[in-house]
Amino acid sequence: GYGSSYGQKGNWLMAMADDCLRSRAIRLEGKVALVTGGASGIGESIARLFIEHGAKICIVDVQDELGQQVSQRLGGDPHAYYFHCDVTVEDDVRRAVDFTAEKYGTIDIMVNNAGITGDKVIDIRDADFNEFKKVFDINVNGVFLGMKHAARIMIPKMKGSIVSLASVSSVIAGAGPHGYTGAKHAVVGLTKSVAAELGRHGIRVNCVSPYAVPTRLSMPYLPESEMQEDALRGFLTFVRSNANLKGVDLMPNDVAEAVLYLATDESKYVSGLNLVIDGGFSIANHTLQ
Ligand code: NAD
Repeated sequence: GYGSSYGQKGNWLMAMADDCLRSRAIRLEGKVALVTGGASGIGESIARLFIEHGAKICIVDVQDELGQQVSQRLGGDPHAYYFHCDVTVEDDVRRAVDFTAEKYGTIDIMVNNAGITGDKVIDIRDADFNEFKKVFDINVNGVFLGMKHAARIMIPKMKGSIVSLASVSSVIAGAGPHGYTGAKHAVVGLTKSVAAELGRHGIRVNCVSPYAVPTRLSMPYLPESEMQEDALRGFLTFVRSNANLKGVDLMPNDVAEAVLYLATDESKYVSGLNLVIDGGFSIANHTLQ
């Protein structure tokens, strides 16, 4: 209680503030989260940050070896399970959700993070339709399946937070890749629709839209060994030159922090939001002075 640290006649206001601070330090105590695409990049960062904040997690991916390694690094069973799941296969998503709910008793947080960019084809006449469909399958259909099966667990509990990864490509576009931009816009629409539906069940549904972050996705053409140094330097130089906000770099953990906010009760009245994390890139037009 508040009396414990400050005594019966202590300053209750100070004690309350102190208690608030303490409870904010560990922000996901007792919470259960499922993170798709958790074997790499932003998903791995989300998984790590959630563990640091006391959550029990299950990471799912199609890269099993990498996923197992991440799970082990985060402490492994019984707080950081890895489960194979292709988010485009409904049976996989159903089984991953059931596995998590059986192991931990519930799912409080569903993070639909798995995604791909697809080939960057600028000329639509050369765009491969199968590639386009693959991007939609993972980035949109995968998010839909995650929402659908998380809702199955969350609705009876009358609570839950669903967070999906969109992208700055959900609000602006360059020339190509059509599939990625179309899919990320669709994630926002899906988020709004499901937020409108699940509000009555006490479930919040949001998405986050980061600018370029150094991960395997944004640097796919780079061999693993190079990724650390030369490639990262090259990537950052390119991104910095285009960024609106200067003097800082957007890193996977910064995205994870935004997902953490939407996952906790600190955002308890936030739903249907597309939280854009782009340093003002999408709202700044530097040709207007
Ligand atoms: P990443 O490639 O490092 O990680 C994506 C993970 O998703 C990989 O581990 C991959 O194996 C997994 N995955 C792919 N297809 C899957 C499937 N069918 N089923 C299950 N898992 C699958 O990429 P990242 O940059 O960490 O991307 C994570 C999310 O963030 C994506 O949705 C991406 O679009 C989004 N995003 C990334 C950036 C960026 O610059 N990196 C920017 C904006 C948004």
